[in-house]
Amino acid sequence: MKLVNDLENPMINHVVLIGKNANNLNRLTSEYSGKVKEIHFHGNIEDAFSLAIDSQKKIKVFSGSKEDILKYSERIKERKFSICPEYPIKKSEDILFISSLGITADLLYRIESVKKQVLLEVLEYYPRHSPLNIPMEPFHAILTAKIKGVKLNLWGLYAMFPAIHFHLEDDELLEGPGKVKNDLYLALLEWKNRQSKNGNRLNGLQKYFESIPRDNPSCMVCEHFHLCFSWALYKRDCCGLWKALLDRLQEQIGKISHILNAQSA
Ligand code: SF4
Repeated sequence: MKLVNDLENPMINHVVLIGKNANNLNRLTSEYSGKVKEIHFHGNIEDAFSLAIDSQKKIKVFSGSKEDILKYSERIKERKFSICPEYPIKKSEDILFISSLGITADLLYRIESVKKQVLLEVLEYYPRHSPLNIPMEPFHAILTAKIKGVKLNLWGLYAMFPAIHFHLEDDELLEGPGKVKNDLYLALLEWKNRQSKNGNRLNGLQKYFESIPRDNPSCMVCEHFHLCFSWALYKRDCCGLWKALLDRLQEQIGKISHILNAQSA
């Protein structure tokens, strides 16, 4: 069975489980224990509390309701869930209230659906009020990597290197393994169509990476290339939003390092 082959591949060591059924996710987590590094929960927040407790895994809860976040804020904090807001984000307060509750907000999958001005306002607030104590993703991961000199790139943040990452939906085993149906992920990489006939899972991306110097020459002289690796132009015409965010994050390094030094003094 293909799924078993994929997961037996020692190179694939980062499984992202996606689903809305806590029992299925718990079963798969124990079945593939050691490889499951992230759980993306798309069900009701209340049901997320049935997920097995494990401090080693990142649990992202996708929530369509601000009311639920407020109602369960203490339990969300206790379980250290990250909240990925799915409701409309029109102003910075729609995001910042999550941080003000002491909860990690994760905007990774919303970046391109939120206005640039709103995101820049969030970034203006973030270093002044919760520098690295209450993470706001993906900004926290990027800032931390920059401050600590840790290697990171946007493809990795999205868990999109197919030779390392594997996305598995909780009901997928019944319908044919290895295919992710959730639009959130399909939109990013056309996951279903990415595999070449000869089974080389890297093929599509290799082609894209090879085309960058010819098709995206601006990347070759971009100061964010080491972090972006042309992610922001993959199947897009313009990378202005990501570029503005990365510029702003770069500007904030000095400010945040200063705050962190003051905190540890
Ligand atoms: S920010 Fe834009 S120009 Fe810079 S590396 Fe990314 S895609 Fe290329």
